[in-house]
Amino acid sequence: MSEQHVIIAGGGMGGLTAALALLRRGIDVDVYEQAPQLRELGAGLWISPNGTRVLRELGLTEAIDAINLGARDRVVRLWDSGEQWSVYTRQTGSDHNLLMVMRSELHRVLVEAVQAIKPGAIHLDARVAGFTQDEQSVQVQFEDGRVASGTALVGADGLHSKVRAAAFGPSPGRFTNAIAWRGLVPVQRLAPHHREPVASTWLGSTAHVTSYPVRRGEQEYVSFSGQAESSKWTVESWSEQGSIAECLQDFQGWHQDIIDLVENAETLYKWGLFVRDTLPNWSNGRVTLMGDACHPMVPYLGQGVNMAIEDACVLARALAGGSAQDTQAALQRYSGARAERGALTVQRSLGMQYVFHNPKLGNPETAIGYVNENWSPAKMKERYDWLFSYDANTVAI
Ligand SMILES: Cc1cc2nc3c(=O)[nH]c(=O)nc-3n(C[C@H](O)[C@H](O)[C@H](O)COP(=O)(O)OP(=O)(O)OC[C@H]3O[C@@H](n4cnc5c(N)ncnc54)[C@H](O)[C@@H]3O)c2cc1C
Repeated sequence: MSEQHVIIAGGGMGGLTAALALLRRGIDVDVYEQAPQLRELGAGLWISPNGTRVLRELGLTEAIDAINLGARDRVVRLWDSGEQWSVYTRQTGSDHNLLMVMRSELHRVLVEAVQAIKPGAIHLDARVAGFTQDEQSVQVQFEDGRVASGTALVGADGLHSKVRAAAFGPSPGRFTNAIAWRGLVPVQRLAPHHREPVASTWLGSTAHVTSYPVRRGEQEYVSFSGQAESSKWTVESWSEQGSIAECLQDFQGWHQDIIDLVENAETLYKWGLFVRDTLPNWSNGRVTLMGDACHPMVPYLGQGVNMAIEDACVLARALAGGSAQDTQAALQRYSGARAERGALTVQRSLGMQYVFHNPKLGNPETAIGYVNENWSPAKMKERYDWLFSYDANTVAI
């Protein structure tokens, strides 16, 4: 073990991936998670090749293959007629392969992998409140008065990060005039064609829906998230519940497949979609940030978790082989390697809102032309190749 000891605030997907990546490089880690239990949202998640590459390098190939439902195809569909276009590998000629997993399953895989190396690494019921630092170490304060000390602190504490606020000041969100709905539907409540291993994005004039099947053990679900334009939302929380009637209002006139998903969801959640100014530098002395703590993004490119996984890999590489004295410089190298890509992904994700939503999609005479133009193989390459081809395992730091 190196003399370094990294404290990670937050045991979400980013914090756990970072813990695993650091432990595998011989760096001691403790993860402090505010929740009293280890659990994740009931929702699906897609992992794109840029995330998969990191998970495989972390020794998780077998574990993720066991939970992945494996997309055979990715399609875009028209909101009302359901007409569909394949936009995946066979047309683009590039590797756009997606893993489709339950968030809770990937979270479990990460927890087990961390605990296999250091059984006591994850501490629950531990809410980080702030920190102080000096030349040698960082002291982390918890809300219940406890203190932990390490050579570095990583804020992986999500959207409303306490570490970011303490290191860089407040970062108010700006509403993007869109809300998101999400739900999980047991497949036995749906017609058989919903089980096909296809990731579908339904395009409409002021809303879009992404849906795909996932599984937990033997139980399969269809996971969906629908983003709809709205001028009257202010709450930014992923655990706010909504009603079926309210959700249906946002999808009036949509294809029966979408109505079936909404009406059969176990629970419907909705939240406001916000953006924040990106930080040019994520590191401050012995403290740094990763994941949603430093680059929260709207979900239109499906990159929030993938970016957190990339961050984790580059962070571990930057710290590996160094000493406690080198920590500040290593954290600057990490930020230098990541901040620009994080900011670009935030910006391009937001830019997708008006690619998914366009008035031309509301008119059958213009909708098909719009899809052909905006979802052509050339557009797909331009939109996704730079994202998916990135290799966090080898990128220069
Ligand atoms: C429904 C939905 C679907 C999504 N789909 C995708 C997708 O398909 N692909 C994709 O790449 N991204 C997706 N995203 C985005 C993605 O989930 C987030 O970007 C990702 O979870 C960020 O990971 P994180 O570890 O940075 O933060 P989080 O997952 O938010 O984890 C932060 C953790 O820190 C803990 N915490 C918070 N404050 C404190 C504190 N003070 N002290 C200690 N612990 C604290 C929290 O309890 C939490 O466990 C989706 C998001 C949602 C809501």
